[in-house]
Amino acid sequence: MSKRVLVTGAAGFLGSHLCDRFIKEGHSVIAMDNLITGDLRNIEHLFKLPQFEFYHHDVTKFIHIPGQLDYIMHFASPASPIDYLKIPIQTLKVGAMGTHNCLGLAKAKGARILVASTSEVYGDPLVHPQTEEYWGNVNPVGPRGVYDEAKRYMESITMAYNSFHGVETRIVRIFNTYGPRMRLNDGRALPAFIGQALRGEDMTVFGDGSQTRSFCYVDDLVEGIYRLLLSDYKLPVNIGNPNEISLKDFAEEILALTGDKVKIAYKPLPVDDPKQRKPDISKAKSILNWEPKVSRSEGLKITYDYFKSLPEEEWKKQPK
Ligand code: NAD
Repeated sequence: MSKRVLVTGAAGFLGSHLCDRFIKEGHSVIAMDNLITGDLRNIEHLFKLPQFEFYHHDVTKFIHIPGQLDYIMHFASPASPIDYLKIPIQTLKVGAMGTHNCLGLAKAKGARILVASTSEVYGDPLVHPQTEEYWGNVNPVGPRGVYDEAKRYMESITMAYNSFHGVETRIVRIFNTYGPRMRLNDGRALPAFIGQALRGEDMTVFGDGSQTRSFCYVDDLVEGIYRLLLSDYKLPVNIGNPNEISLKDFAEEILALTGDKVKIAYKPLPVDDPKQRKPDISKAKSILNWEPKVSRSEGLKITYDYFKSLPEEEWKKQPK
């Protein structure tokens, strides 16, 4: 049966892909965004559809949606370090007040809500790979604390609305995800490497490049999130790709793909940069029957082709 779905952060990377998925499944979508880090070009192809509406709105302010609502996907939040270090207060507010508003709306409408948490709740993890039972190692007063703690608060208030108000809630802990519609200048490793390769600059690897990350292709992530929404599981679930790689090897893979004659340049590691990150996805496998399907070589090729197809002025934009 067709549902009416609110997607916050809809003009962003993940929100826009979620909108596509809900439309494809035959649902109606209300997309909400204040465009602080998003871009309307990510959803402009949906504007012509009668089952799609866009609200230019800041979710930290009261949210009014007329009519019935079945699902709320709360994805509004700056997500890359470059953004949340630049707008730390908005980051805390969207995780705290924005989540509170979305939960209030879910309660008022009797809607099911899924909130986008993150692997950053594990901080610089002392347990590897990270299972959902691990409580994390976060520095609350470090520069990244604004994001990590906002998301930890998000999880707490979401559970409280579930147990105290009986709201149907889902929590996804998203690990690094990549794919088309990421911003080339958002400071994350993959777009940074590809942007540098496209501009013919050396690729910057921080530290000695031995720190590991695991990258999940966006279609896999959206599938996992969709299954979690439809499941009856209310505790947090990791969704990510456990296939781990060092940043040095990752830079080399991108070098091979782009065929560019640039080299790798090493710079000092930023404060509180996690050394290892790898999801334990046993829970997603057993509860959602989900695991990633897209190989890194396939996903990287699609993403590289997307970035290459952008106008050259986009490539020239440096992370700020
Ligand atoms: P993004 O920056 O591309 O998208 C976030 C969107 O939220 C933007 O369009 C932005 O304008 C909007 N937004 C921010 N504050 C808002 C507010 N107060 N009101 C309304 N809209 C607001 O980031 P993304 O990568 O698409 O991330 C989406 C969500 O997923 C975030 O909650 C993020 O924390 C989470 N997440 C993403 C990743 C990842 O790898 N991309 C990993 C873990 C968690």
